[in-house]
Amino acid sequence: LEPYRCARDDYKDDGSNILLDANENAFGPPIPGNYLPRDATTNGTTNGTGTSAGGPQIDFLSLHRYPDPHQLELKQLLCNLRTTHAHTTKTLTPDNLFVGVGSDEAIDALLRCFCVPGRDRIVVCPPTYGMYSVSAHVNDVGLVKVPLLSAPTFAVDTDAVCAALSDDSNHVKLVYLCSPGNPTGALLAKEDVQRILEHPTWNGVVVLDEAYIDFAPDEASLAEWATEWPNLVVMQTLSKGFGMAGIRLGAVFASPAIAGLLNNMKAPYNIPSPTSALATYALSANGLAITRGNKARILDQRDRLLVELPRIPGVGRLRGGVCSNFLLFEMLDAQGRPDNATALAVYERLAETKGVVVRFRGKEHGCLGCLRITIGTKEEVTRFLEALELTLAEVR
Ligand code: PMP
Repeated sequence: LEPYRCARDDYKDDGSNILLDANENAFGPPIPGNYLPRDATTNGTTNGTGTSAGGPQIDFLSLHRYPDPHQLELKQLLCNLRTTHAHTTKTLTPDNLFVGVGSDEAIDALLRCFCVPGRDRIVVCPPTYGMYSVSAHVNDVGLVKVPLLSAPTFAVDTDAVCAALSDDSNHVKLVYLCSPGNPTGALLAKEDVQRILEHPTWNGVVVLDEAYIDFAPDEASLAEWATEWPNLVVMQTLSKGFGMAGIRLGAVFASPAIAGLLNNMKAPYNIPSPTSALATYALSANGLAITRGNKARILDQRDRLLVELPRIPGVGRLRGGVCSNFLLFEMLDAQGRPDNATALAVYERLAETKGVVVRFRGKEHGCLGCLRITIGTKEEVTRFLEALELTLAEVR
């Protein structure tokens, strides 16, 4: 595949060139104060725009230009973030990275990169994130479903996955694993991931989705394994730990060969410049410090929920792990049994009469009678606990 090449691959936008190559509008976006091309700003005719003091500087005056197609600075910051040398002495470099419009772009891009429509299949391990199978269907790629082992560990059934991979007639090209899992909140065992990576005859790629890794114990991420395993892809995102779902920034750590394939096939300017400016700020020392503070607040509320939820009549066991920014809990019927109908009724009543929206994850999602509860602020958690207690009393 010949990647798309633009004139900026040859001639950088260094401020000295007159750029008439890419059909841009030199007057910029229709935002008051930002109409004029950049050279006018040096005369003080427009205001350079940033957010509050010390915050990210978004260069609105450059919005008439396409963004950087390579995002090397941002990629280096992502490498620094995940370089712990906890798992290997090798160091991640920007060659190990693809950045996408959320991890959702990566989920789809990997399918398009590795699977032949109408023939190939992927392994998914339900209960898991729904986009793996949605994207597979869109791309006419089949599914081999290998359910996770039972709650609360929700470990991956490595024997069954490996058996599926050993059968060439399955045409499996990718295995999508999620750690910490959604909706399980459980971290996969490193040994299990390694066993699949070491499959002796299978030639495909293991995709490890670490969307929630920032809520897991320090150094749980296996992103650095991408320096050693040519058949591993680790997906991460700024949507969760960094609280920036709106900017749509996902990262893939992989061998330079795989990262190169994804970079060659992506749309040339997939990351908007405001997104990379905000992401760069989030990964600066200041951004990281704020993120650490917010993480501590979320984990405090997680601890609180683990204590207070089981005290509410009608709340059953925690199912799954405690490694993400949500918890999976059973709802019980009047006889004290986990019950789908109760969970569904609570879910609906909570939203409709108390204005609290959680996620129903029932039998059909592999979690009989469960609700998935995202951990909010202290005030939100207080309100949720009160509303849940009332609602359970009403429906049981
Ligand atoms: N993976 C998992 C496991 C998720 O739960 C989500 C979002 N709900 C995503 C990926 C998508 O993340 P992004 O916002 O980066 O597209």
